[in-house]
Amino acid sequence: MDHPERPGAAPTRMHAVTDETSKIVDLVLDYSRRRMLSTDTPLDKPISEFELARLAGRSIDEHGIGARRALSLFEHVLAPACITTDHPGYLSFIPTAPTKAATAFDLVVSASAVYGGSWLEGAGAVFAENEVLTWLAREFGLPASAGGVFVQGGTLGNLSALVAAREHARFTQRTAGNAAPDRWRVVCSAEAHSSIASAARVMDVDVVPVAPGDDGMLRGDAVRAALEEHGASVFAVVATAGSTNFGIVDDVASIAALKSDHDFWLHVDGAYGLAAMLSPLARDRFAGVEHADSLIVDPHKWLFAPFDACALIYRDPEAGRRAHTQHAEYLDTLTETSEWSPSDYAAHLTRRARGLPLWFSLATYGGGAYRSAIGSAIRLAADIAREIESRPELRLVREPQLSVVVFERDGWSREDYATWSTRLLDEQRAFVTPSSHAGRPNTRFAIVNPTTTFEQLVAILDTMR
Ligand SMILES: *Cc1c(COP(=O)(O)O)cnc(C)c1O
Repeated sequence: MDHPERPGAAPTRMHAVTDETSKIVDLVLDYSRRRMLSTDTPLDKPISEFELARLAGRSIDEHGIGARRALSLFEHVLAPACITTDHPGYLSFIPTAPTKAATAFDLVVSASAVYGGSWLEGAGAVFAENEVLTWLAREFGLPASAGGVFVQGGTLGNLSALVAAREHARFTQRTAGNAAPDRWRVVCSAEAHSSIASAARVMDVDVVPVAPGDDGMLRGDAVRAALEEHGASVFAVVATAGSTNFGIVDDVASIAALKSDHDFWLHVDGAYGLAAMLSPLARDRFAGVEHADSLIVDPHKWLFAPFDACALIYRDPEAGRRAHTQHAEYLDTLTETSEWSPSDYAAHLTRRARGLPLWFSLATYGGGAYRSAIGSAIRLAADIAREIESRPELRLVREPQLSVVVFERDGWSREDYATWSTRLLDEQRAFVTPSSHAGRPNTRFAIVNPTTTFEQLVAILDTMR
């Protein structure tokens, strides 16, 4: 028989502590240190698969190319073909801006090989993650008994919350002796994030999109009409706390008030915007969030944590646990206890303790530093909105509520925005992509990075003259 191993290659070569392994660790830590402390990492940009194949070639063969070559390939070819999402000039979609403490600690999460799924295995990590979740819950006005789990992203957070909501509705209906509806329905704004429709597809339920007001805010009156039309088939209403396109916060209080006449689960999708509730500058906009049955906020968006983390919080965590606990013989020892196992609160099992970087950073800097960093983005958005208004060739599409500023350039077509956007990235000035609203092309600044300056944004506006 032909052995693929080299003669003499010990099976422990990759795991034992040797000179070789210690050099590999040094190489990687040294690169990480340089990247984390660099102040001039370029914006970079994608290149074609053909170009990458030419530059990178093949790195995987039977014997390995060695850590030095592989890391050099990453540093000089692969990483420059990835846009630097924490660059102050990254203003598209929703950027990310992890703190130095959070990024550094992300290495520790890997180095410690913590299993974040169960109390049995990860009690210490779960305790710290739960401290963050409880802190957030209190900021959002939820009771001290609220709790949940950090999942991979807002899409999975919304899905897991809606699954718990439907389970709750099924349970309520069964115990009342009512028949299940033909179709279950979830009501949300027509401007809700695409992940709500995605969750509905996965769950095989229908979405009832409700038109928001001209200002983009969904209000109780409009939701009431949908509830009256669809009755008990509505298992959840989703309010958006900071839409991705505009940063608009629905009128959560007027939607929550409908709970006195209608039985539904209120889910607040705050993946991007709910972080702003930490700032006194925006807190008032979120009245009513305290009535949520579940909510999400993505620390990888505006809570300065690295990818990927979504905090999913239930008012009554038992509802999440009933919906999500997996049962299997090999898991009995976990599921037959009353201990807090994060795996039980979402559609997942094995999990990274991905809330720890945020825990370490919050513990390091304190909540006040977060309030002030979030507030600086809100102020910058307001300032650049005034600047846009003062320029005759530009027009604000809507007044910014949080830190997303959407605006149009007079007379520009879709192609004009696209050409301009490509040039900005080619020249490595900024990453600002074309967008549109109600069929009209526009562009937007999404600001979360505290190192983005007014002057940088003004320089971008100057390129639109
Ligand atoms: C980004 C976003 C999501 C999806 O979150 P992911 O982490 O990208 O899965 C959902 N809802 C809103 C409002 C968002 O901004």
